[in-house]
Amino acid sequence: MKTPCAKKTFPVVFAGAGPGDPELITVKGMNALKKADVVIYAGSLVSKKMLAYCRKAARIHNSASMTLEEISALMVNGARSGRRVVRLHTGDPALYGALGEQASILEAEGIPYEIIPGVSSAFASAAALKRELTMPGVSQTVIFTRAPGRTPTPANEKLSLLSKHQATICIFLSAGMMDKTVRELRKGYPPDTPAAVVYRASWKDEIVITGILKNIAAKAKAANITRQAMIIVGRALNGAGGERSKLYAPGFSHGFRKK
Ligand code: SAH
Repeated sequence: MKTPCAKKTFPVVFAGAGPGDPELITVKGMNALKKADVVIYAGSLVSKKMLAYCRKAARIHNSASMTLEEISALMVNGARSGRRVVRLHTGDPALYGALGEQASILEAEGIPYEIIPGVSSAFASAAALKRELTMPGVSQTVIFTRAPGRTPTPANEKLSLLSKHQATICIFLSAGMMDKTVRELRKGYPPDTPAAVVYRASWKDEIVITGILKNIAAKAKAANITRQAMIIVGRALNGAGGERSKLYAPGFSHGFRKK
């Protein structure tokens, strides 16, 4: 009599879809989608065009209306029945994607998983602005944060406190709270600090709004932007004109270039 062999369990793959443009998923992420039997994608900010990479037979689920329990059940059952499961997150899975709680459920169930990084919308927004987020002599620090909404932020991460550093700051999930956000930022940044709002960076309907801290909320409001947008503030947005970086300076040697 033949003994039935146990089904191979493939690791559940958490993949970053990138900011929206289907070309901005990584090659590894795309290859994972091509092989997937089950795909669970974050419908609000993952382009449906990305699903064209999937096999016709793949079962595709939009997680936008699902609970953590429903998402986990799909992942756990899929993996246990020997299917290749891909959980597709917007941008990079490590930022504001509830990755931690999904991963710990898989760990508790003894299901292996792996993570494929993605291009965060913070970087797609910087690209849309044609700006470097770190500028020598201006800012060498980038803060990723959000304004407190229904999800609170820890007391020592208040925007008013973070703003004291006057570093480059990328604010997620906060375009619907522009007035409050700017009010807090003005406790540390001068009112004429360059500020930008990038709506749906890398999508066809991308909108880039630039201004200064004092007028950016009014400009975003005039453009009707209340969601799916990145707020970036900091003097680095002024662009070149600060100190030159040492990396390409002739007098500066390093491991790959001797004087
Ligand atoms: N993991 C994602 C962030 C998810 S939270 C990442 O790395 O980008 C969702 C928030 O991300 C949105 O409220 C918005 O602030 C930002 N966001 C996502 N996609 C965006 C895009 N294409 N353009 C601008 N902001 C975007």
